[in-house]
Amino acid sequence: MADLHPGMGLVGEDGYVHATQRALVGYRAVCGAGHVIINLEGEFDPDDRLACPKCAERQDEVDRGQLHT
Ligand SMILES: [Zn+2]
Repeated sequence: MADLHPGMGLVGEDGYVHATQRALVGYRAVCGAGHVIINLEGEFDPDDRLACPKCAERQDEVDRGQLHT
């Protein structure tokens, strides 16, 4: 999937930390939660309590995919 930013965590309107991908305007959560509103300094951590479980699953898929390329 192009333009995925696995190291970046942004907070969406629901308050979760989402893994993000670049959208036409700003960034969107990879799990489909929508636009994100706060850019967090630091990395997206799937184990973070605040992290979106759906994003964490997607993040694992991305990490495994990168191992094979
Ligand atoms: Zn999410």
